[in-house]
Amino acid sequence: MVKPIRVRAGDKTYEVFVGSQLLDQAGPLIGAKLQGRVCAVISDDNVARHFADTVIKSLTAAGCRPTLITVAPGEESKTMQRAEAICDRMIEAGLDRSSFVVAFGGGMIGDLAGFVAAIYHRGIPCVQVPTTLLAQVDSSIGGKTAVNTTAGKNLIGAWHEPALVISDVDTLATLSPREMRQGFAEIIKHAVIRDAEMFAKLQSFDPVELPALIRRNVEIKAAIVAADDRETTGERALLNFGHTVGHAIERAGEYHEFLHGEALSLGIVAACAISIRRARLAPDQRDAIVDLLRRFELPTTLPKNFPREKVFEALKFDKKFEGGKVRFVVTPRIGAAHLATDVTLDDIREAIEAL
Ligand code: NAD
Repeated sequence: MVKPIRVRAGDKTYEVFVGSQLLDQAGPLIGAKLQGRVCAVISDDNVARHFADTVIKSLTAAGCRPTLITVAPGEESKTMQRAEAICDRMIEAGLDRSSFVVAFGGGMIGDLAGFVAAIYHRGIPCVQVPTTLLAQVDSSIGGKTAVNTTAGKNLIGAWHEPALVISDVDTLATLSPREMRQGFAEIIKHAVIRDAEMFAKLQSFDPVELPALIRRNVEIKAAIVAADDRETTGERALLNFGHTVGHAIERAGEYHEFLHGEALSLGIVAACAISIRRARLAPDQRDAIVDLLRRFELPTTLPKNFPREKVFEALKFDKKFEGGKVRFVVTPRIGAAHLATDVTLDDIREAIEAL
C-alpha cells in the first residue's frame, strides 16, 4: 500500500492516499478510518458511469451499506437546491449521525458533497475520492466546501476537512484532454509559488511521472493549508496566485468560454506582468512561465474580440477586493510568492489589456 501524505488542519489531521488501483481499496481504507457503515456515495453521471460499480463493490465487501446518489455533471448541479435534494435522499436511505459521505468525482462533486456532509446532522464525515487532476492536486485538500448562487460562485459554504482522501490516478485515464490540461494550470501555479525544482521538471515532463507529480502537489497544498487552515495569516492566500484575474476572466466569459484552469493560466500571465513591475520578477522568468503554460496547451492570450472591459468589471466581485483594498499575490522569482499591498487597479487593468 502507498504511504499516505498527512495533512494537518488546526487540531485535526487526515491522510491522503495517492496511487494506482485505489478504488478497489476504498472499502478497507475507509473501514480502517471510520466506524459508520451506512453511507452515501455522491457522484455525477459521468464519473458514476465509469467507476461507481468498483467503489460500491469495495464498500459493500468491507461491510458498508452504500447508497449511490448521482447528479448531472457540471456547475449547474452545485446549488443549494441540489444539496437539499441530496440530503432528502440521504434521510430516505437511513443515514444518521454515525453515517458518512463519499464525495466521488471532480471538484464540483467535492464541493457539493463536502457541503452536504458539513450540514447533514450538523456535520458527518466526508471521504473525498477525487477523479479529476484539478481535484486531486487542489480542491480535495484543504476543507473548503461550497455551492453557487445566482449572485456568484462558492458564496455559500462551510469549512469541512475530509476524514480521508483517496486519489486513484487510474481514474484520470477517462478524463478529457481539456480537463486534464486545466489541472496542469494549478500544478504550474504551485511550482511558481513554491517549488522551482518541480518547475524545472515540468519543463521536460514525462507522463509516467504523473503519480509522483500529484503527490508532490498534495504536499505543497498540505504545507500551505497546515500553515493557515482558516485563511487568516495570509499564507493560504498565496494559493490565489493568478486567481484574481483568472476568476474575473471566468466570470466575464460567463463560465463557459474558459474552464477554471484555462482562466487561471491567463490570470498567471497577468500576475507575472504585475510581478515584473511590483516584485522585480525577471522578464526571462516570466517568459519561462508563459512557455510552460503553452507547453501544456493552456491559453496565454485572450481572443482578440474578448471584452476585456468585462474582465475589469468582474474584478469587483472578487472577495479579495473587500473593503476596497487590493491584496494581490506576486512572484519575485520562480518558486516564491508573497502578498503585495502596492498593486494598483491600474496595474491590473494594464495587465488585462495586454493579455
Ligand atoms: P468537475 O468536477 O465539474 O469535472 C469536470 C468534468 O469532468 C465533469 O464533466 C465531470 O463529469 C468529468 N469527470 C470527472 N472525473 C472524470 C473522470 N475520471 N473521467 C471522465 N470524466 C470525469 O470540474 P473540476 O475541474 O474537477 O472542478 C471544478 C470545481 O472545483 C468548481 O466547482 C470549483 O469551484 C471547485 N474548486 C474547489 C476548490 C476547493 O478548494 N474546494 C478549489 C478549486 C476548485
